[in-house]
Amino acid sequence: MTWYFDYISNPTKIIEQFFIQLWINVKKEIDQNLLERKAFCIKIITEFFYCIQGMLDSVRHLDPPNKLIDEIFQSDASNALNINDELNDKNQCMVRVIYQYMAEQRIPLSLTVNRTTYHIREDAFKAFQSLIQQRRPSNELAKIIKKISSVFENIPISNLIAFLEALLTEREKILRDFNQIPCNFDHIDQHDTYARLLDKVRGCPDLCPCCRRPCDVDHTQIKSNPGSLYNEHRCQSGHNLRAMNGYKFETTNEPSLLMCEQIKDDQILIIGPRRYQWLDFKRYHSDWIFESTLNDHELNRLHGNF
Ligand SMILES: [Zn+2]
Ligand SMILES: [Zn+2]
Repeated sequence: MTWYFDYISNPTKIIEQFFIQLWINVKKEIDQNLLERKAFCIKIITEFFYCIQGMLDSVRHLDPPNKLIDEIFQSDASNALNINDELNDKNQCMVRVIYQYMAEQRIPLSLTVNRTTYHIREDAFKAFQSLIQQRRPSNELAKIIKKISSVFENIPISNLIAFLEALLTEREKILRDFNQIPCNFDHIDQHDTYARLLDKVRGCPDLCPCCRRPCDVDHTQIKSNPGSLYNEHRCQSGHNLRAMNGYKFETTNEPSLLMCEQIKDDQILIIGPRRYQWLDFKRYHSDWIFESTLNDHELNRLHGNF
């Protein structure tokens, strides 16, 4: 049997099967994108630590670690400042130089902190300049660093060597932890997307009690329960032929090719041992509106399809 026979006998099942097939492909594509994204992140993390290592190698020889920052930044007006204030300013200068290297890919000759200008000593400036030439951060890394620029605003560094060394000891752990994060849609999705989309695609599970075509109302638009007043079930896009539910004419035994919209109120239906007027049948199924929203022309065209 081809799928359209199945669709007539059990439309919801066919809709589900189509959806599942589509979903498998969509999910495969999402998972592939996630894997590419993860590989990109690993590349960026690796590059970040490569730059940090380069920075450490470049500045290690300049001055003893505990004096380095104080020595490489010199202000114009050092006498006018309290020594602690000046040290704090210099610590901020250091953070700014790291930011300049990682995000702007250039080192300024001087920086202004708290209205005081500090010059970078020539050999330190040259060391950073050659670092940029040898380990220039990629534009992708620079872009990410710019996005977290606020982090650099309040973390003065007092010992650059100790800071960089401490950072580098985290490298393996960060990469290992990141690698272990499961990277697929099922793990990342927190909104039960598959079930929600399937529900949406499947729609209302109720079938027209006459022709068994599925209700196609989006009941989620109204808060009241599906089938209640003002939220009735309905085949908005037209009903099926009644014969699809086994209806036939009593006298001729021919299948009834009427659609629910075409049945007159005084026509009689026989279900099991009972005879109903269509009007009564409709009253009995008051949770349904049997008129579709199609106009006569659209209904005729739909009927012509059969
Ligand atoms: Zn119907
Ligand atoms: Zn419904």
